[in-house]
Amino acid sequence: MEKKNLDWSNLGFGYRQTEQRYVSNYKDGAWDNGALTEDATIVLNECAGVLQYAQTCFEGLKAYTTQDNRIVVFRPDLNEQRMHDSCLRLEIPALPKGRFVEAVKQVVKANEAYVPPYGSGATLYIRPYIFGTNPVIGVKPADEYQFRIFCTPVGPYFKGGAKPLTIKVSDFDRAAPHGTGHIKAGLNYAMSLYPIVTAHEEGYDENMYLDPATRTKVEETGGANFIFVTKDNKVVTPKSDSILPSITRRSLMIVAQKYLGLEVEEREVLFEEVKDFAECGLCGTAAVISPVGKIVNHGEELCFSSGMEKMGTITQKLYDTLTGIQMGRLEAPEGWIVEI
Ligand SMILES: *Cc1c(COP(=O)(O)O)cnc(C)c1O
Repeated sequence: MEKKNLDWSNLGFGYRQTEQRYVSNYKDGAWDNGALTEDATIVLNECAGVLQYAQTCFEGLKAYTTQDNRIVVFRPDLNEQRMHDSCLRLEIPALPKGRFVEAVKQVVKANEAYVPPYGSGATLYIRPYIFGTNPVIGVKPADEYQFRIFCTPVGPYFKGGAKPLTIKVSDFDRAAPHGTGHIKAGLNYAMSLYPIVTAHEEGYDENMYLDPATRTKVEETGGANFIFVTKDNKVVTPKSDSILPSITRRSLMIVAQKYLGLEVEEREVLFEEVKDFAECGLCGTAAVISPVGKIVNHGEELCFSSGMEKMGTITQKLYDTLTGIQMGRLEAPEGWIVEI
């Protein structure tokens, strides 16, 4: 198989159309068998459920070329489970068990020429999503749905090294208690656009959302979970029912404990404590970990001792170990790496 002639190391994080995508439709109470197609266009009725009441959820994962030239995906079973949970909460019919992972494999296989080579820093980003397709005007779940997966090659998240981010404590809330913060729904992103555009205009990279009920506890950013490192090297991550359970964050906590021998804690984190942490990072599939250098709360600056130049020591170790596992340089825990 010949790779596409792309400038892999200089790709951005954007959509680039590839050849094949997967489509499956739900109608008359059942999902069809699904198939690959070259058609990248969706034609919908003007009153489709997704267009009126935002009945849609999505996932995001990556395929990598390992050091020994295998193409692998990272823990796709967890994306399958999370999409299942998102569907239940949004009254979207669940996919048959195993279908998600099977479809991911088909799409990656069919677009093998777009999987960036080992060492380029680039990866193949995979985007599964489901949405209501039939006309819905009275507020109720749709009767028909489409499940799609496309993929697009994306460049290295950090070109020329990871520069620590500056984060703003947002005056907006992300997810209500007992709301939809724990599922990967498009609606959680639509409402985060105004806060993030505003934050960018003010010179910040991201928003930190606090718990809406008390505004005293750290939740997450618009699209990444927090991890903190204490001065005595304990890895701490906030626990809350309205945080999206990041697969990267859950994996990093295991890496911290099992590979680096560090103590880990998932617990409520008061904003008040943040000033006492030594390091801070944001975790998600896109960047694995982005270091945070500074958090600004209405003009009051909290600066991490790791500084604004590079990742903190523990953050760097977590990053190196998890990417080492993903790229096949380090032995992976059972089931983490699925070969295509
Ligand atoms: C997708 C997402 C994350 C990161 O999850 P990963 O599984 O690590 O990619 C974190 N927060 C939110 C709100 C998300 O939507």
